[in-house]
Amino acid sequence: MRTYNIGEYSVLKIEDVAVNKLLEFNEKSDIDETGGIILGKFNQDCSEYLITDICEVKSSLRKTPVSFIRDREIAQGIINDMWKKSDGSINYLGEWHTHVMIRAKPSRTDKSTIIKIAKESIGIKKYVFLIIIGENKEIFICSVEFNGEFKVIYNGRV
Ligand SMILES: [Zn+2]
Repeated sequence: MRTYNIGEYSVLKIEDVAVNKLLEFNEKSDIDETGGIILGKFNQDCSEYLITDICEVKSSLRKTPVSFIRDREIAQGIINDMWKKSDGSINYLGEWHTHVMIRAKPSRTDKSTIIKIAKESIGIKKYVFLIIIGENKEIFICSVEFNGEFKVIYNGRV
């Protein structure tokens, strides 16, 4: 289990299952980027978030070495399934994708996409998260608030 601070008042925890998946995707040297959704739990006062799993969402729309656009309908299906199976405790927490042969630094598009998702997401959770997996086991984790405020939580080796 990994634990990171989100500002002063909240923590983000990542279960080992999800950490191992991040590492696996890091080691796959596909020429295409891939990505998907982050699933997990959060408590009522939004002081603790727990990432329980990351799911790959294969896009039927477009997949190129420079951009990954996930399929919304497939992603929504996974979210709905997990929500039902977990009696409403596991929910959508954000997005992840790989950067092939480059650092895990969010592009301008990455930032605007996650900010748009944060603004559109209706719910009681305070944050959505973006995780980028780059080369050499580098990961970048950030949180985005509904007002678009962007916080870097971690940038370093997995
Ligand atoms: Zn990116």
